[in-house]
Amino acid sequence: MDCLFCKIVAGQIPSKKVYEDEHTLAFEDIDPKAPTHVLIVPKKHIRGLKEATDEEAEIIGRCHLTAAKIAHDRGIEDGYRTVLNVGPRAGQSVFHLHVHLLGGRDLRWPPG
Ligand code: AMP
Ligand code: ZN
Repeated sequence: MDCLFCKIVAGQIPSKKVYEDEHTLAFEDIDPKAPTHVLIVPKKHIRGLKEATDEEAEIIGRCHLTAAKIAHDRGIEDGYRTVLNVGPRAGQSVFHLHVHLLGGRDLRWPPG
């Protein structure tokens, strides 16, 4: 399958790995939008949130808990954000589900 993040998971494309366990991989975003900008992906290919099934609820939750662990380890618990961009109008550009972890600066609300 021609999927950028599947290739990163498989090690065919390099990434700056932040965390890995059996089911998830976290790596630095190549174009960071905040001092901390990490992507957390399920190792299994899921196209996006709207395509996810009940069986994938746990892995999606795990991705968020991985984000919380990284935020804790980096000392940014005074304010961070986990974001799933869903669909092209929300800016989804890679169609392998990924949680953005953004932090290390003030984050405005609502997002643009
Ligand atoms: P989204 O726009 O929500 O689909 O997010 C895709 C993210 O992937 C963007 O923030 C990109 O900067 C990031 N990205 C694209 N290619 C790479 C790569 N090779 N390594 C790390 N992050 C990437
Ligand atoms: Zn994929």
